[in-house]
Amino acid sequence: MDIFGENVFNDAIMKERLPKATYKSLRNTIEQGLPLDPNVADVVANAMKDWAIEKGATHFTHWFQPLTGITAEKHDSFISPTTDGRVVMEFSGKELIQGEPDASSFPSGGIRATFEARGYTAWDCTSPAFLKEDAGSLTLCIPTAFCSYTGEALDKKTPLLRSMQALSKQALRMLQLFGNTSATRVISTVGAEQEYFLVDKKFFDQRMDLILTGRTLFGSMPPKGQELEDHYFGSLKTRVAAFMHDLNVELWKLGVLAKTQHNEVAPGQFELAPIFGTTNIATDHNQLVMDSMKKIALRHDMVCLLHEKPFAGVNGSGKHNNWSMSTDDGQNLLDPGPNPHENFQFLTILCAIVKAVDDYAELLRLSAATPGNDHRLGANEAPPAIISIFLGDQLTDIFAQLQNGGLKRSLQGEKMTSGVQTLPAFRKDSTDRNRTSPFAFTGNKFEFRMVSSSQSISGPNVVLNLIIAEVLSQFADRLEQATDFDQTLKELLRETAKNHKRILFDGNGYSDDWVEEAAKRGLPNISSTVEAALVLTREATVELYEKHKVLNRTELESRYEINLEQYSKQINIEALTMINMAKHQIIPAAVKYSTQLAQSINAIKSASEAVDVSVQEGLLQELGSLLVSFKQKLSILENDTLKATTLTENSYAQSVFYRDNVFKDMQDLRLDGDKLETVIDAELWPLPTYAEMLFML
Ligand code: ADP
Ligand code: MG
Repeated sequence: MDIFGENVFNDAIMKERLPKATYKSLRNTIEQGLPLDPNVADVVANAMKDWAIEKGATHFTHWFQPLTGITAEKHDSFISPTTDGRVVMEFSGKELIQGEPDASSFPSGGIRATFEARGYTAWDCTSPAFLKEDAGSLTLCIPTAFCSYTGEALDKKTPLLRSMQALSKQALRMLQLFGNTSATRVISTVGAEQEYFLVDKKFFDQRMDLILTGRTLFGSMPPKGQELEDHYFGSLKTRVAAFMHDLNVELWKLGVLAKTQHNEVAPGQFELAPIFGTTNIATDHNQLVMDSMKKIALRHDMVCLLHEKPFAGVNGSGKHNNWSMSTDDGQNLLDPGPNPHENFQFLTILCAIVKAVDDYAELLRLSAATPGNDHRLGANEAPPAIISIFLGDQLTDIFAQLQNGGLKRSLQGEKMTSGVQTLPAFRKDSTDRNRTSPFAFTGNKFEFRMVSSSQSISGPNVVLNLIIAEVLSQFADRLEQATDFDQTLKELLRETAKNHKRILFDGNGYSDDWVEEAAKRGLPNISSTVEAALVLTREATVELYEKHKVLNRTELESRYEINLEQYSKQINIEALTMINMAKHQIIPAAVKYSTQLAQSINAIKSASEAVDVSVQEGLLQELGSLLVSFKQKLSILENDTLKATTLTENSYAQSVFYRDNVFKDMQDLRLDGDKLETVIDAELWPLPTYAEMLFML
């Protein structure tokens, strides 16, 4: 309790340190979304500075989220010179609300040329400022949005804030139709469960692939993987427990509500989940979680891997994005209540979400598309690349009733019976879970499970807010015109249930049958990031984003370019790293071992003709042919990688080439590389093995 929020300029501190009028004006902006009064900036800046300096800070930074998906900061100290050769500590309102970090080297997808470098950061007072500790130094971090000189959003925060406004506006229309006049704002809420791996730093340091790409590009399967399921929820190893403790303390100080922690499915894999909060703050906090994980792991001589697929053959990492919306007076709009079949406001919102997910499945799919996630989605460990919704028994039953036009009942959870008298009796939830669904209703929220472990959660939540705002607006348009509200609503719900039942699926999402079935239902199955990006070029997408003022045409075009560019760059780096490791580590090891074998054969033969050297000869033979094959595949990869870099005319064609040629070549090369690992003397193998990295923590 004492350390929680210690490093945050939170509401309690503001109340304590700001004059009443300033505090009130700021709260109006934060809570009611009213424009920020410029007069408050100077006062707030001064209070913030005093607080930060008392804590030991020397610098401040505008903390922003460029389109790289991670965070950026450029530090300025508070010092300002006096005429007598000394300094005073200053921080003005202008410095608080606006920055101009140049920052021309961030991806802009063509919005800015580097010679037109101006970009601005603007204070987001809805997310509290905080102090970041780095090796004893403290920096005041001010969450900001980042825009170009011409006003286009160059970051992940601006569209998120815009989408929250859009959702609030449309959801309020809907609430008013149901007679709710007390709510003045609707807020989307998010809880992001973060998965990650830890590896011992001494192994990490010896793997160029982990250092440069975050994942292993070679590595044969260890004798043991995750098949015994003995790691999942297992007791924490001391070293990991110590790491988690430090991580929690750091996060609590930063006001992050770190709550749940456990071992995940794969060996060396873990998860942390915070208590949910406002989407904007949850997104900032998730960045702090990822950042802190990396930093604190190092203190324990470990490295935190956030890549979606650091190791082949065991599960990768994702991020479950739990999403809901609530009113400013605290009503969760996705809470079905005891009898959902009588709760028409809930049913309307539920239908809107089902329709939104069905109508805009491709946008949602895109929102979770990253090169790293291509390894997971559709493989039998993560949700399939096909979007579908799991509602659970109770709501599925109500949905069926809706289609038939009559609502009669809500299935209730039964009594839990364990057969042991001394165990407590309780009522079960009215619905079991389904772990394979990409979009599942889990009691009072939806859980979007496609999101990748390393990405910012901004993108997925922008899409959720936007598409749900759109369908709510369509519903509101119709209901506001209705002469008979009840009748129109019933028709609307029935129609929606009928038209969108194809998106509901409660079976095993990992099965091949589902892929076939989904194709029959006409549901899109987009397997790669490259293909997914195309949805951004559609006119309907531009209209949707522009209608709700979330992104304009130029901003969307830039995101399309950046998506493809990042994909191509990532694969290019991986290919070059592989080539380097193949040439400078694997081939030399193979040559060394061949020489040793040859020398051994010769030495033994000259010592005695009677000794059988067939084992060495067999190994030498096997190694020789593997090496030839490995080298051939290496040449193919080298040629294709070179060719790919020349395809700069058309970014789509380039990324398709990376995916269909370069990436495929990499997989071929890896097959031989991994076979070599199983043949070569362990003493000569230059890379830490999977067994070491996954099991030796
Ligand atoms: P799981 O069983 O999926 O592992 P967890 O308890 O680990 O569940 O995580 C569930 C997440 O959902 C938590 O971050 C929790 O705070 C969040 N959550 C709960 N209610 C809401 C809500 N109304 N809106 C958004 N997120 C929520
Ligand atoms: Mg979950």
